[in-house]
Amino acid sequence: MMENENDLSFVDGIETLKSQRDAVVLAHNYQPPEIQEIADLVGDSFALSKEAANLRQNVIVFCGVSFMAESAKILSPQKTVLLPAKDAGCPLAESITAEQLRRARAEHPDAAAVSYINTSAAVKAESDICCTSSNAVRVVQSVPEKEVLFVPDRNLASYVAEQVPEKRILAWGGECIVHSRTTAEQVRQMRPAHPDALLLVHPEVPAEVRRLADFTGSTAQLLDYVEESDRKDFIIGTEMGVLEEMRFRRPDAHFTMLAGNLLCVNMKKTSLKKVRDVLLHMDNEVMVPEPVRKKAFLSLNRMLHV
Ligand code: SF4
Repeated sequence: MMENENDLSFVDGIETLKSQRDAVVLAHNYQPPEIQEIADLVGDSFALSKEAANLRQNVIVFCGVSFMAESAKILSPQKTVLLPAKDAGCPLAESITAEQLRRARAEHPDAAAVSYINTSAAVKAESDICCTSSNAVRVVQSVPEKEVLFVPDRNLASYVAEQVPEKRILAWGGECIVHSRTTAEQVRQMRPAHPDALLLVHPEVPAEVRRLADFTGSTAQLLDYVEESDRKDFIIGTEMGVLEEMRFRRPDAHFTMLAGNLLCVNMKKTSLKKVRDVLLHMDNEVMVPEPVRKKAFLSLNRMLHV
């Protein structure tokens, strides 16, 4: 939330610079509330990248982590993509390198390589097709191969394996350091105090938590679920940044986080000052080498046709 004069002067600066630079500010749902408030668009990573490609502005300020800004660059190579928090990485995306994926593919030559959107451009370039948490099941169903090398999130892989039993899923061992903090014990302790609440979780949570949930879905699917539900009490098993949009869509509902530590420090590295500064100096530009970008684009494009 914006609290002081400094914040307000940064907001004024951002507004002025946005028109001077022909820029648009995009924010992921896990960004701090004050960043979501000033953003032109808020959403999940791939939806934002797709929208950015259709916007008239030439400069995209992507408030998120580096793989998200890379995805925007892959889809909009002619645009300048800036990442306000230069050091905002994602440990899940960093859990696999392009070289590791090449080696895994060599060990499993008959498997299709499906990479989650939470990967670097270089890993996407080495994959057959990408997926998001919304479409992972459909993407895996769509590939002709019986064996699928699914990278990097092992919890999403386990969810997909349960939904698509006809395929053999070979899961990489990566995990989101935030979602993996949830446990079945937290659910058991939480339920008696909220007997009427529905537990909603992201598929990046461990399987033991997912199996106790009332609904599992991507960020966008969780938000739609909350909006359309006639229930008023929810326990949330995903990054706490989604509460901003959930409360906006359902001001009458009550939300309780499954655990108090579901906060991604990388997502919270963005500040109003950093957004202002990146527009002022036009630095922290995200670059993807053209041969890598072209191959990564093919993997993303195949997903769009599923
Ligand atoms: S919430 Fe998890 S997957 Fe998302 S950026 Fe943070 S560490 Fe990566």
